[in-house]
Amino acid sequence: MQAEAPYRIGMGFDVHALAAGRALILGGVRIEHPVGLAGHSDADVLVHAIIDALLGAAALGDIGHLFPDTDPAYKDADSLQLLAGVTERLARAGWGIVNVDATVIAQAPRLAPHFPAMADRLAGAMSIARERIGLKATTTERLGFTGRAEGIAAQAAALLSAL
Ligand SMILES: [Zn+2]
Repeated sequence: MQAEAPYRIGMGFDVHALAAGRALILGGVRIEHPVGLAGHSDADVLVHAIIDALLGAAALGDIGHLFPDTDPAYKDADSLQLLAGVTERLARAGWGIVNVDATVIAQAPRLAPHFPAMADRLAGAMSIARERIGLKATTTERLGFTGRAEGIAAQAAALLSAL
């Protein structure tokens, strides 16, 4: 029981480059697109930002610390499974997830049609109701690396409460 501070807030941020020959997986959903995100794991930038928000709120380090990209175990890893593992780790530390809010920063493709499916996957991995997950998307008006479609970024905030 964490009676002295029953709530904790955290934030996460992640970026992956877009590359040919890779699948685009966001929020655990595979999206048809000519290019996908490059990375050691499935490069799900949205899930990675959420994981860092959760870990940050609990002061448990960050995703690179827990799942090093030098570890072959995480090659092409399903990030949703990593998220489920982090949720269990939070529970063992005495924390439950109140809500998560996230923004994906991408010039393309249009993501709103995929949000319901993403919320379902994320809710399953975190064992919370999908109504506790806010998903948003924005472009950077063709400015910067996201605007030039060289990569996709994601930001997330999470609130934890003591179990
Ligand atoms: Zn990442």
